[in-house]
Amino acid sequence: MPEIKKTSKVFRTHNLMTLLFSIPLLGCFAYLYLMEGMHAVIHPVYVMIAAFPVLIAGLWLQNRRWTRFKCPDCGKLLERSLKLDGEPLTFHCEKCDIKWDTGFTDQMDST
Ligand SMILES: [Zn+2]
Repeated sequence: MPEIKKTSKVFRTHNLMTLLFSIPLLGCFAYLYLMEGMHAVIHPVYVMIAAFPVLIAGLWLQNRRWTRFKCPDCGKLLERSLKLDGEPLTFHCEKCDIKWDTGFTDQMDST
C-alpha cells in the first residue's frame, strides 16, 4: 500500500502559468474590445493570430502538467494518462512507494 503525500507544487505551477498566459490573452481581448469600431493601429486579425499560439502553448503546457510530474523525493519523472474520471489527480512513484496527491481532480476543469 503506497503512502499518500500531498504536494502543492502542481497547484503553484498551475496558478503561475495561468497568470502568465492570461495576461497576454486578456491584453489581446482588451485590445479587440477597445478598438472595436475605431481605426485600430494593429488590425484585429493580427491580434487574433498573435493570441492563437499563446492559447495553444497554454493548453499544451496544462496537458503536460496533468500528465507528467517529477517525484519530489527521488526526482523520477512520473507519467500518467488523463482519465477524466473525476478521481483525485495523483502520481504514483513505485521507487519511493508514494502516491503524490496534487489536490486536483482528473476532470476537464481540473479544480
Ligand atoms: Zn520517487
